[in-house]
Amino acid sequence: KNTTVPNIDGSIHNTEEADEEDVVDLAANSLLNKLIRQSLVESSHRVEVLQKDPSSPLYSVKTFEELRLKEELLKGIYAMGFNRPSKIQEMALPMMLAHPPQNLIAQSQSGTGKTAAFVLAMLSRVNTLELFPQCLCLAPTYELALQTGRVVERMGKFCVDVQVMYAIRGNRIPRGTDVTKQIIIGTPGTVLDWCFKRKLIDLTKIRVFVLDEADVMIDTQGFSDQSIRIQRALPSECQMLLFSATFEDSVWQFAERIIPDPNVIKLRKEELTLNNIRQYYVLCENRKDKYQALCNVYGGVTIGQAIIFCQTRRNAKWLTVEMMQDGHQVSLLSGELTVDQRASIIQRFRDGKEKVLITTNVCARGIDVKQVTIVVNFDLPVNQAEEPDYETYLHRIGRTGRFGKKGLAFNMIEVDKLPLLMKIQDHFNSSIKQLDPEDMDEIE
Ligand code: ADP
Repeated sequence: KNTTVPNIDGSIHNTEEADEEDVVDLAANSLLNKLIRQSLVESSHRVEVLQKDPSSPLYSVKTFEELRLKEELLKGIYAMGFNRPSKIQEMALPMMLAHPPQNLIAQSQSGTGKTAAFVLAMLSRVNTLELFPQCLCLAPTYELALQTGRVVERMGKFCVDVQVMYAIRGNRIPRGTDVTKQIIIGTPGTVLDWCFKRKLIDLTKIRVFVLDEADVMIDTQGFSDQSIRIQRALPSECQMLLFSATFEDSVWQFAERIIPDPNVIKLRKEELTLNNIRQYYVLCENRKDKYQALCNVYGGVTIGQAIIFCQTRRNAKWLTVEMMQDGHQVSLLSGELTVDQRASIIQRFRDGKEKVLITTNVCARGIDVKQVTIVVNFDLPVNQAEEPDYETYLHRIGRTGRFGKKGLAFNMIEVDKLPLLMKIQDHFNSSIKQLDPEDMDEIE
């Protein structure tokens, strides 16, 4: 009964709560991110580069023209609406397109242009006259493989002789088929099967090997070993590229095992800050009382849109029903929904179809809805030890310093939870003011 389930943010919750509390899997989250992404994610940091040969000149590009790409590929890039390389692409593309090919490990948060970069590298290295697999990309799930394939298809729209094939579960290829597609995207298990058992892919002919979402990959049982078995069979001149949104030690160790002599590129994530957030708390007796306080807050400030966080699915559902009965337009985002359903709820919310989004920890991170003006912690985020979960607090409420607008945050607190709130205040060294819910004039 006391087994633990690690949460997306590394926090641990016991199973009793886990029945109700949403535990997000990394691959689902990554897919959601892709589905709801609208544009490049910016970063004010500098790209850090570690060259395998520090004495060789370091090139960066400010335009796609400088890369001397095939005409039809350049056309595809512009047709996607890209004007210039993203920050990470400025450094990564010259390395990826260099002769002789160079290996690369690149880390930057999702949305910074990694996929577009390696898709471009694969497309540019395909020899269209040769009808066999030349580029191989490993992805952690079927859905993520499809997403990458879509990018290949869009960017390669004018490269009419380049074709993609998916090595994924359920894509049955008749025995004896000659695979003529040049780009293969698949999950490690199926790719392994296609290479060694069914002999559909000749790994010795692969020129570009991409391992995408390495952090998600190593999170899945068996995928590291399968990826390494595939990599071992590649020719030594094959270009090897690895991408990851995060870089814990485990990812790093895996990356170094699988990519020989790499260049390394890193772009640090924009830090979240509470500096431009005005934080308040309201002392409450119980859940009903919290709800009343919420209504007062909601009625008291002119609100664009609000996100309300609950700790459990049950609480989130309860709150949704209460608010609906009171005539509010709200939507509920929680873990029992499929990724597609989540994406559509987030999209509707972004489009302003609902003013309030009630959610559990599933979307504590990552959804970036610019017009959200208030965030409410209907429950404080706590970990298994009933200590404050600082990380989650920051991710719910924080904004990036440079790009974020000012925001308002409200914490609905039962009296016995007050010490937790004080710890949060101390931890972040930022003030959380008490608010009398009857008197909203206190909000500056
Ligand atoms: P990542 O793989 O790091 O998550 P993507 O390559 O998927 O990032 O890019 C994130 C978003 O930005 C996508 O919508 C993609 O089409 C877009 N994008 C990528 N590169 C550029 C660029 N150079 N200019 C404009 N948009 C870009």
